[in-house]
Amino acid sequence: SLTTGIVGLPNVGKSTLFNAITQAGAESANYPFCTIDPNVGIVSVPDERQEKLAQMYNPKKVIPTTFEFTDIAGLVKGASKGEGLGNQFLANIRSVDAISHVVRCFDDKDITHVSGKVDPIDDIETINLELILADLESVNKRIDRVQKLAKQKDKDAVIEFSALTKLKDAFENEKPARHVELSDDEKAAVKSLNFLTSKPVLYVANVSEDDIASPDVNDYVKQVQAFAEKDKAEVVVISARIESEIAELEGEEKQNFLEELGIKKSGLDQLIEKSYKLLGLATYFTAGEQEVRAWTFHQGTKAPQAAGIIHTDFERGFIRAEVVSYEDLMEAGSLQAAKEKGKLRLEGKEYIVQDGDVIHFRFNV
Ligand code: GDP
Repeated sequence: SLTTGIVGLPNVGKSTLFNAITQAGAESANYPFCTIDPNVGIVSVPDERQEKLAQMYNPKKVIPTTFEFTDIAGLVKGASKGEGLGNQFLANIRSVDAISHVVRCFDDKDITHVSGKVDPIDDIETINLELILADLESVNKRIDRVQKLAKQKDKDAVIEFSALTKLKDAFENEKPARHVELSDDEKAAVKSLNFLTSKPVLYVANVSEDDIASPDVNDYVKQVQAFAEKDKAEVVVISARIESEIAELEGEEKQNFLEELGIKKSGLDQLIEKSYKLLGLATYFTAGEQEVRAWTFHQGTKAPQAAGIIHTDFERGFIRAEVVSYEDLMEAGSLQAAKEKGKLRLEGKEYIVQDGDVIHFRFNV
């Protein structure tokens, strides 16, 4: 399953946030996993549409979809040179699909900052530089060999060498791989190098509990937002400390607490939603009297492969999908009414599943 890695300098609030995530996961009623890695937290993806579907179908079970956060502790300045947990840390980042980069945006004289002062941009650049240096090392390890092959007119090597040259130039200028424009062939040629700085990033501005209702007045947050805009990345503002309190609550209690704080959605829910989009993920639903269930798929997935997410038999024996969009179903008021209005579509193998589709798969066993 897909996972987002939580990174950041020491003492910025990563563990506090990660504990909130684990707590929220443990609270969710239908927890489909038992034993997991202590560094992995599973969260259910909040979805108002699923709640509405549950009201319509009144099923025995409502099962949200989930994804993972991995706590990646141990990054310090010099990690790419093996400082701290250095290489271990970098290997852990290599295996995640996206990065949530936690940045300290709160003042607290009792909590030491590794570099002696709160400076979110300096923090971000410190971490980004370590990742860039690690990527530069990957390029340097490979480029001479590829250059030799390219000189011998090896076609694949020519393409790879061209990609590596562009990347090396970017890394030497402290730019991440995700800002380098490569052709599709070039991308494919260097894919296996799995650059740390090619992964999508979300900046998580951790503010003090006093700032959570109006984070816009926080200067640190403004700096992070300006930086993220240049970096074509998104920002989520949270207070990790508050999140760990919110995570212990559910339903009405949670709603009341959020209202008291003057916020609509918990930071964690925003983090989950934005990470989900960042990973290119979307949700379809299956709905019936037994259960209303949400399923995660990669945007662009065709119907048989989407069916395969439920069960491999569904993909192998795929006949067709009966599909109604969430909006059409809600407007009609029931599946029967949607059918009468001609909103229930029969879709074949080439159909690209859309976010919010409510689907019944037909298949041969
Ligand atoms: P990590 O090293 O990045 O995992 O940081 P921790 O989660 O251990 O947090 C470091 C310290 O900052 C702890 O004492 C936390 O209680 C504190 N802290 C974390 N988030 C907040 C916050 O939102 N507000 C305040 N005031 N303190 C926080």
